[in-house]
Amino acid sequence: MTAIEQSIEERIGRLQTGGIIDMHFDLPMDLYEKRQRRDVLEIEFFPEFEAGNISVVGAAIYVEDRYIPGAGLRVALDQIARLYAETAASGRFAICKSYREIQAARETGKIAFLITMEGIEPLGTDLNQLRVFYELGVRAIGLTHARTNAAGHGGVFAASGSPAEGLTPFGREVVRDCEALGVIIDLAHINPAGFEEILSMTTKPPIVSHTNVRQYYDIERNISDEQIKIIGERRGVIGVNSILVSPREEESTLDKYVDHIEHIANLIGIDSVGIGFDFFEFIYRQWPESRQKELAAKLTTPHFIPDLTNHSHTRNLTRRLIERGFSDTAIEKILRGNWLRVFEQIL
Ligand SMILES: [Zn+2]
Repeated sequence: MTAIEQSIEERIGRLQTGGIIDMHFDLPMDLYEKRQRRDVLEIEFFPEFEAGNISVVGAAIYVEDRYIPGAGLRVALDQIARLYAETAASGRFAICKSYREIQAARETGKIAFLITMEGIEPLGTDLNQLRVFYELGVRAIGLTHARTNAAGHGGVFAASGSPAEGLTPFGREVVRDCEALGVIIDLAHINPAGFEEILSMTTKPPIVSHTNVRQYYDIERNISDEQIKIIGERRGVIGVNSILVSPREEESTLDKYVDHIEHIANLIGIDSVGIGFDFFEFIYRQWPESRQKELAAKLTTPHFIPDLTNHSHTRNLTRRLIERGFSDTAIEKILRGNWLRVFEQIL
């Protein structure tokens, strides 16, 4: 190894040490599907988290279509139950409900989970359930996934076509209660009208936990330059997603991922961009081909970035950010600092 290579390795090591925050991971859903097994978190996930210096994970409660509407609440509660049980069994993790708890976990070398909810289907149309999930630790909520629900409509996986209306009266109540309780409102997936409406009703910094820029993948599920600018004005943070960086497989590369980061930073500055990897390959590869085809027909075919497929790969990202000329200060903000600022402000 040359002296230059060695100094880059050391620089990567230093930047990694402070920990990396990923604001969107479908962990509870996988723990639920493997609920007959024990120590899944410890055996299947901890090694990758450790290799990638992961310090905080947004653990997303998400209920798949096949459980909706009948079992939405039950599956969501079971996902949270598995997360708590597996966390208790491992001893290497902490479920955190406040900024103070997140910092305490980081200081003691534990990986912090922040429970998030992707789609309010588990609430049904009952605001009391929002209070229950808050008490269980849910601290960020996105109103919808791709489908329409009792709160509003998801952005479609096409350049246009989602309903022109924003939130339902129930959706507006959820947003008001989230702001009052201190739950971060996540704008990932919501359709453009809902996005605008939520911002008009709230004052705290908004987040988009996992998304890509429409500049490179023009679908309503992603975020336009106008939307990016509003998030910047409101001092929010946008987490860059790794599975929708391009509609083309050959363009789904680490460099394209960094292009998304750069695009956001060029529009609104380095203080509003973070990470929301949305790693999904581990679930996708467990599916039979029929389910993979179903996903392609319903939404899209995800293109996984070969050297950014799971949490053990984060050093590759840090290296590429260095190679692309980002300063240490900028890289630290992207990897953790910006999310921590929002947590400190809201949680
Ligand atoms: Zn999502």
